[in-house]
Amino acid sequence: MNLNTIVEIKRPKSFEAIEWRDGHAFLGGGTWLFSEPQIATDTLVDLEQLGWPPLTVTPAGLEIAATCRIVDLHDFNGPPEWRAVPLFDKCIDAFLMSFKIWNAATVGGNLCMSLPAGAMVSLTAALEGICTLWPRNGKPRQVPVVDFVTGVHANVLQKGELLRSILLPTSALSRRFAMRQVSLTHFGRSAALLIATVGDNGEDFLLTVSAATPRPVHLRFKTTPSAAEMHQAIEDRLPPGAWFGDVHGSAAYKRHVTFYLAEQIRAELA
Ligand SMILES: Cc1cc2nc3c(=O)[nH]c(=O)nc-3n(C[C@H](O)[C@H](O)[C@H](O)COP(=O)(O)OP(=O)(O)OC[C@H]3O[C@@H](n4cnc5c(N)ncnc54)[C@H](O)[C@@H]3O)c2cc1C
Repeated sequence: MNLNTIVEIKRPKSFEAIEWRDGHAFLGGGTWLFSEPQIATDTLVDLEQLGWPPLTVTPAGLEIAATCRIVDLHDFNGPPEWRAVPLFDKCIDAFLMSFKIWNAATVGGNLCMSLPAGAMVSLTAALEGICTLWPRNGKPRQVPVVDFVTGVHANVLQKGELLRSILLPTSALSRRFAMRQVSLTHFGRSAALLIATVGDNGEDFLLTVSAATPRPVHLRFKTTPSAAEMHQAIEDRLPPGAWFGDVHGSAAYKRHVTFYLAEQIRAELA
């Protein structure tokens, strides 16, 4: 849609060139920004000209620029020892989108939207991603993805603070994984999206619950838990009031399918 409150689009070549004030909004792919009126925004700060390489393989892992588009992530082929790379496509498929969104939406934009059904939130939280944030005045800071999102459409970003990148560590990329996702309708938004990763000998089992909860939740076990242990851990960490209900599924439904899918994942990895 046309945003008729916008009077200027800035295309800075560096972060320092941005003179931030109220009324500014960072523009990633624009798939959400242009989907509804932005009454409080008069200036868009387009991030594209910052020219960040979308994906960089380093000894530490995979650095995903905030401006990396969903399609870039889809096209990525990692080294064979990164066994979790096929999870990228599985999460991309869980994302409700048209080809326009596929080609325009950015990974950073999805994290900054911080929606429960944010499939890039699920992916990067499950792979223990670390966000690098650039505050307006101050040194860059790092926040795990699982702590970056604080609630429905809420995160730790301060005014004018930019999400620069997400690092997926080599250790997480090298683990085995299993994933389950469910929607009420065939092409509907995720009602629950669960991912677990585990070491080769069943050690360090990490379950990530998302979409069913307002923010992603980690449940970590020293070794692959039994069905009863995992059920109890979910009960303890996520009491009945901790679930997120909306038109894509009631809280009770999401809670129910989470237990069901978590057990499937556990059995697959055991
Ligand atoms: C038909 C349709 C279906 C959709 N389905 C889903 C879905 O299933 N799940 C879902 O999560 N979303 C969905 N969305 C919402 C949105 O398209 C996605 O969340 C998308 O990933 C947003 O990315 P973007 O790059 O287009 O963000 P933009 O629209 O450019 O920006 C989104 C927000 O993040 C801010 N922002 C962007 N980049 C940064 C940055 N680097 N640092 C700080 N702030 C930044 C912007 O200022 C804005 O507030 C859907 C939208 C539509 C129109």
